[in-house]
Amino acid sequence: MRTAQVGGIEVPVDHFIGGAWVGSPTTFETRSPMDWDGDALADVARGDATTADAAVAAAVEGFNEWGSWRPHERAEVLHRLADLIEANNDEIAMVETLDMGFMYESMRQRLVARGAVNFRLYADLIVEHEERRWDAKNMDNTVQRMPAGPAVVITPWNAPFMLSTWKLAPALASGNTIIHKPAEWSPLSAALLAKLAHEAGMPPGTWNLAQGIGEEVGAALVADRRVRRITFTGSPGTAKHIGKAAAENIVPFTAELGGKGPLVVFADADLDAAAHRAAWQFDDSGQVCLAGTRLLVEESVRDEFLEKFHAHADALVLGDPRDDGTDVAPMVHPEHRDNVHGFVERARSAGDTVVRGGNKVDGSLHYEPTLIEPRSNDSEVVQQEIFGPVLTFQTFADEAEAIRLANSTAYGLSAMVWTTSRDRAERVGRALRTGLVWVNTFLVRDLTAPFGGCGISGIGREGGDWALDFHSDIKTLMILDDTTS
Ligand code: NAD
Repeated sequence: MRTAQVGGIEVPVDHFIGGAWVGSPTTFETRSPMDWDGDALADVARGDATTADAAVAAAVEGFNEWGSWRPHERAEVLHRLADLIEANNDEIAMVETLDMGFMYESMRQRLVARGAVNFRLYADLIVEHEERRWDAKNMDNTVQRMPAGPAVVITPWNAPFMLSTWKLAPALASGNTIIHKPAEWSPLSAALLAKLAHEAGMPPGTWNLAQGIGEEVGAALVADRRVRRITFTGSPGTAKHIGKAAAENIVPFTAELGGKGPLVVFADADLDAAAHRAAWQFDDSGQVCLAGTRLLVEESVRDEFLEKFHAHADALVLGDPRDDGTDVAPMVHPEHRDNVHGFVERARSAGDTVVRGGNKVDGSLHYEPTLIEPRSNDSEVVQQEIFGPVLTFQTFADEAEAIRLANSTAYGLSAMVWTTSRDRAERVGRALRTGLVWVNTFLVRDLTAPFGGCGISGIGREGGDWALDFHSDIKTLMILDDTTS
């Protein structure tokens, strides 16, 4: 097994296929956003069509065993994996921070643990929800969940560890074997997960990891006819390619895609809390699909809100995500930082007003927290996901206009509403076309609740039973009463 020392932690850098670490003839570099021009963090195996073929073959073979285990047997291993994640909490957090620039304390104190909880949750759910039985029409009816087969799990570079656990836990709990293809900009925490899964006692071929570039090993994996499920988190553009491959082989496919969340502030809201939360959208440099990036504020409190927002934004500290005092980390990759800057430059040329920020920061991959007042709701910065620390600011006259503006993009992943009126919270919450609505809060979700997007924000739902349904072939068995003894 080839490994790299990442912040003093040993991380495997090969693929994990059929219970063994295997390399590729070529590698790709992963670099730390905090030291972009320094040495690469690791040279990671660069998978290709041969890798994909071997990984799917291992998953098919592994399915004979894992797919035949009873739910409580699978649950035991998933709980052991959760124990191991908890035991390696700080190491996982540090590797994620160095590889992707995620806030270390946030990972260490919350997100790694949430990943472990997710494995526990699905270990318990699959035992509780194995099958349903009832008698009707003189028949004994049984609904059985059958594992579907090998599942390809493709994940993005932002929050890679936690987003991966959301997808991997239900797939494995359902009895599917998996081939995980993490993003090439932050591949390392996935290698730690595969290592821990092996230590937890998953039989060979249950958990396979294929490292590499999306258009290479990723495309080969999703085109393989032996694959029975594809679950993807990433951009709408990539989802189109994967969706075509899934359609070709008639394989069920879920897609968690981008967002352009509205953050709607009514005049009756706790304005300081709303403004604080709005400035908090710069956290993780805005590289958060659920972020509320369109600030929609009732006209009558425009000035008061802006004053509070700027005060909170002024207090943000740009720095190293390993330091507790840092609020805004560098962006993941210079290419992505330049894409974000491209949006701002085009907005300026088109006549939108850059109210704060709008510049790259010399000597680091930080981007200034930016607020833009668009000239119209059709502006590109209002309609397209930027995925960086760039927010837009618009006002509305009344509730109807707030809802109209909030629902006016092709996305529909999440929304935030700030109001002290319970009636309004219900009314507006129900009128929004998004998969999630938070009222007076943000980002917290009970893991048993569904998660996913409307419009171009996605296909299908993760979380709770919804993910188990996706990963199972569901069968109804009907036995006519009095015909068997
Ligand atoms: P991306 O679409 O570029 O890549 C995502 C993954 O797909 C990577 O692992 C990549 O290697 C792989 N890939 C690329 N081309 C492929 C192909 N042809 N076949 C198979 N796999 C391929 O997305 P990204 O830039 O890594 O992530 C950012 C995007 O993800 C943003 O749009 C963001 O909003 C979205 N996102 C959504 C959620 C959600 O839950 N809705 C969560 C996080 C991120």
